[in-house]
Amino acid sequence: MRAYRAWLKKPAGPNRGFMTNCLFCRIVAGEIPANKVYEDNQLIGFWDIAPKAPVHVLLIPKQHVSSLYHMDDSNQGLIQAMIVAAPVLAKQLGLSDGFRLIANTGEACGQTVHHVHFHILGNFTDSGDTGFPA
Ligand code: AMP
Ligand code: ZN
Repeated sequence: MRAYRAWLKKPAGPNRGFMTNCLFCRIVAGEIPANKVYEDNQLIGFWDIAPKAPVHVLLIPKQHVSSLYHMDDSNQGLIQAMIVAAPVLAKQLGLSDGFRLIANTGEACGQTVHHVHFHILGNFTDSGDTGFPA
């Protein structure tokens, strides 16, 4: 709780801090429950509430960044952490046949939650439906 209060006091620059109206910031803060499967100092991973594959988790930074489009050089460490964590999570979830890593970026391209996130999808059925248009 103390850490959460300290975090709330952080100056909110364009790519930092807690956005009260952001669903994923509220999940990070524990205000909205999520079925977590991964956590480190920068990221959390949790099951998507409306899965499009037998395994469908979301990997998000704890820090608010609106989308991949809004990331730049100053986010290098965070981008690296997300890319490194994706296969760690895939292995943890048993996706030895492979997985899809998707970052819908911008409303026109399917982004509905404006807090950057990777979809990790796998264990597709034999129908070949991979959940998203290729
Ligand atoms: P996108 O459409 O790429 O922005 O992805 C947002 C994802 O967040 C969708 O796949 C939603 O099903 C998922 N989602 C929305 N609300 C929640 C929630 N409360 N817990 C987990 N996943 C959620
Ligand atoms: Zn956010």
